[in-house]
Order: sequence, then C-alpha cells, then structure tokens
Amino acid sequence: MSNRVDRDGVSLNGVILRTLRDVGPLSRVELTRRTRLSAATITRRITTLLAEGTVKEEDVVNEGALGRPAVAVALSRAANRVIAVQIGVGTATTAVVDVLGGVDQVDTFAYDTSLPATAVISRVADAVRDLRDPATVAVGVAVPGPVDESGRRMLMPINLAWRDVPIADQLEQELGLPVVAEHNVRSMALAEARFGAGRSRRSVGFIYAGAGIGAGLVVDGSPLTVGVHGAIELGHLRVDPGGAACVCGGRGCLETVASAEALRRRHDALRIATAPGTHPLVTLCASEAEEARRDASRVLTHLATGVSTVSNLMNPELLLLGGGLADLPPDSLDELIAQSRNATFPLIRDSIDIRASRLGATAAVIGAASAALDRILYS
Ligand SMILES: [Zn+2]
Repeated sequence: MSNRVDRDGVSLNGVILRTLRDVGPLSRVELTRRTRLSAATITRRITTLLAEGTVKEEDVVNEGALGRPAVAVALSRAANRVIAVQIGVGTATTAVVDVLGGVDQVDTFAYDTSLPATAVISRVADAVRDLRDPATVAVGVAVPGPVDESGRRMLMPINLAWRDVPIADQLEQELGLPVVAEHNVRSMALAEARFGAGRSRRSVGFIYAGAGIGAGLVVDGSPLTVGVHGAIELGHLRVDPGGAACVCGGRGCLETVASAEALRRRHDALRIATAPGTHPLVTLCASEAEEARRDASRVLTHLATGVSTVSNLMNPELLLLGGGLADLPPDSLDELIAQSRNATFPLIRDSIDIRASRLGATAAVIGAASAALDRILYS
C-alpha cells in the first residue's frame, strides 16, 4: 500500500473510497488506521470528499475500548452512480447501479441478432440517455464474450456475428461519458465478490448458463484475466468428442449439448413446451417424462464435467452457479453439484464451496458497474 499513498491525489482517494466500500462506514480514526495514511491526510481528503458529495457523515459509532462517540464516514449512494448494461444474445438489460451495489430502474429490451453491432450499440446509447442524471459518472457494459485488456472492445462474442467491436469508443462518442466493457460472467463473479456471497472469500468463481455457457473468476478482489485474451471459454470445452459441430468450429463442445439453443432443439424433439422467460435447462429438468429425465441427466453430466474442470484448474474458494443453473429444481441442482464434486481432485473437493448464485439477473449489471468504478473512482 505504501507505493499507493505516495502517488497522486486520485490514488489516495481511491485507497480511502475502496476501504469504505469494502469495510463499510468508519470513523476518521479507524479510516486512518486501516489505510495507514496520516490523520492530517485523512482529515483533508474527507473534507474534500464531503464537499463534493462522494462521502457523507452518518450515525455516531463507538470508538474502540474507550467508547468515545465518533462520526462515521460512509460512501454516498447518491453520488457516483453508474448506468450498467448487460448485452445478451438478442436482449439487453439496463439499470442504474450505486456505489454499494444497489440496483434501480432495471429495464430490458429485445434486439434482432442479425443487426450490426453499431445499430444495437446506438440503441443501448438511447436507453442510457433515458436513465442519465447529474449523478451518473460512467457506463459499464457486460458483454457476452472476451474483451480486450483495456476494457474497450468486444473481441469475439461467438453467439453473435460481431467481431472486434469498439463498443466503448462508440458509446463514449454518443454519450460523452466514460465507458468500460467487461466480460459478462467475470462481471457476475465481481458482483458476488464485492456485494454478494463472495464478500469474505479470496477467490470467487462463477459459471453462468444463458444463451451460452461461460465462466469468470475474481481473485483478491480483482477480475482474473488469463492469457492473451483473458478468456475462459468454458462453453467450448470438449465434453463429447464424437458430438455435434459447434458454432466455434469445434465439435462436441459443452454448448453443443447445454446452450439454450441446443436445449430448445431437445424440447422440440421431446415435445416439451418451451416456457418463455425460463431457461430451457430448467424446463427440461422439471419435466416428468422418462425420456426427458434421461436427457436431463445426460446434460447435467456434461455440465458437471464443465464445473469440475473449473474446480480442478482454478480451484476457487467459492464457485457460484448462475443463470439457468441457479433456477434448477433442487434435486437437479444437487445432482449437478454432487457429480461435479465427484469429478474433482480430493484436496480441492474438500475446500471448494459450490452453490447457486442468489444475485439473479442483477449480477451482471452490478459487476459491470463495479468494473467501471474500479477504473474511474477506485484507481
Ligand atoms: Zn465450441
């Protein structure tokens, strides 16, 4: 931390604001102790941050053993709000997210996946304009695929025909606000690590089943970007070597058996009614028909291969299952977790906690907003 405290004022503020985000309201004395900044620096910075509305003074707290009352400083939810967007395959969700992960004004629109990316991004810009107010400081976008390291380009959302799209540039030009793009499932992991079940965990993994299947990881509070493109392409793990051709050019990928589209095709074959608004995996697992039960069991086995692969390679402390996986009937969820654990190395099996995410559809927007604030407020 010492290298940070000597740097420019923004970094000092970043240290203070991150501490208030992660620990909660603190007195100036406690803030001084935790940040290891000088009391004079804390006093001066807090005066400025109060004047600009970034923090506020709150209830009186008792200070340590002496029990002397002290005023607590807290992040203000009214300042530094982010308009967050989750771009899915054929749908986009917008919301206003505050600095403590509170979500407001959630709205979703559908778009035609045959449209060029620029047209869909313009539509997103329109939706952001409707939500924008003076407290808006940035736009965070969760996208369905890898992004470049600087958080500006969608590289290859494989379930859309868009390639290397400069989404942050276009939105910044249209809106005049700073824009940060982040991988959708890494955003969900970040939301859980900051504001959800992963708050006290050092490493948090997230596996999401939506149109496709993705994974993301947060380690020590930061999204993990691996390799050249930062991509963990769980949906394209080969689970069935002789299986069907995949959109990625491969064969037998996890998405060929467990993507929403692959599952809908099974619905058609089995004459199961596809319920709108429900992930087709949930409908398949809830079906009583014997053939559907066999199918569901086969899909869960392949998904367990995916979950155990993430466990074995990444061994996060907490591994959350989201999207359609979080909505599975309890017996199917138990079966998926049990099979996943069976296929995991014993040492990891004993330490990993695998369960359903409870942030629901808001995980991606909370995470996208967090990724944006990391770059503009906390750094
Ligand atoms: Zn594939």
